[in-house]
Amino acid sequence: MAELILTGLSKAYRGGPAAVVDFSLSVRDGERVVLLGPSGCGKTTLLRLIAGLEKPDAGQVHIGGRRVDGSPPHRRGVAMLFQESALYPHLTVEDNLGFGLRLAGVNRQERRRRAREAAEWLGLTDLLSRRPGTLSGGEAQRVALGRALARRPEVLLLDEPLSHLDAPLREELIEELLRLHARAHTTMLLVTHDRREALALGQRIALQRDGRLVQVGAPADLLAQPTCLFVAEFLGLPRANIRAGRLAMDDGAGFFSCPEGRLPLSAPRAGCRDGREVILAVPPQRITPADGGEGTVPARFIESREHGGEGTWKIEAFGSTWLMRAPGGPAPAPGERLFVTFQPDSAFFFDASTGSAVSIRELGG
Ligand code: ATP
Repeated sequence: MAELILTGLSKAYRGGPAAVVDFSLSVRDGERVVLLGPSGCGKTTLLRLIAGLEKPDAGQVHIGGRRVDGSPPHRRGVAMLFQESALYPHLTVEDNLGFGLRLAGVNRQERRRRAREAAEWLGLTDLLSRRPGTLSGGEAQRVALGRALARRPEVLLLDEPLSHLDAPLREELIEELLRLHARAHTTMLLVTHDRREALALGQRIALQRDGRLVQVGAPADLLAQPTCLFVAEFLGLPRANIRAGRLAMDDGAGFFSCPEGRLPLSAPRAGCRDGREVILAVPPQRITPADGGEGTVPARFIESREHGGEGTWKIEAFGSTWLMRAPGGPAPAPGERLFVTFQPDSAFFFDASTGSAVSIRELGG
């Protein structure tokens, strides 16, 4: 186990765009961090730089207090699991598990001991004498994971370990990874482009975009305080609930105004800077059913729909459609009227030109 520290890592492939740009991140000893970002943002390149499969143009990698960016891959204390597990088809599961150890010169008895330990951790004991061709996709991926773990790496890097598994197997392997981490406490950096996987697996999530680290934090903190629109959207804020508009003042009261209508803002945003162009993003859980009293908004139910694994209701309010979290109980009939409470004061505002979060203080400026 060891702390992983990346400082100012940069990498551009020859003739290509910069894949990783000035990337700094610390993963604590025994911590599980997920690197999340869209396809092509440089996630795999970052793992390859850590593992020593690519050479950085700039920056440093420290593992357990040692600087390793000049060391060959096998001297770094790192194991990397790739998207597709390439097991040796002619070797048994047990020999596959011990293969990395054989290359490292570990004697037969110790190889056997560690292979069996990894098999036990991953529920593979009954499969030790099988060959890869007879395994399911999930089992094969667990063997590949076991092979990486049997080397007892200080840092385990996992590149989209679940991406080619079907949904039930994916759920199973997520549980497996969590159990394994609780037992082995290995420092882990996992790559995914799937926000649900990231939220399920990350003690912290690091969001990457165009090679750069955009924001890192505990999932709840990122959801509650995204520093930019990219983070809010990538973590699942529905597009339907994002509106471009401007702040407006009317008779001392503040509004968010967009072509479809305007939403009242109460204190402390009442004194908002008139005319500032912003993007409003309202999470579905900030729109709640109401009884029609003061401050509630008339709406019309359109349909129930799933968004990011959660039940939502599509409604029409302020002249346009929104997704709100489905409250318990049966859904209304299509077209049925209801009242909702919109909470724009606890929604997010982003600067229209930069996409950066706008704080309450700035809004009041
Ligand atoms: P994905 O989620 O699709 O796997 P990623 O976030 O892991 O993507 P990378 O694979 O690191 O992204 O790629 C980052 C950028 O570097 C991309 O523009 C990609 O085309 C480019 N790239 C990756 N490998 C090479 C290479 N060997 N030679 C040239 N360009 C490369």
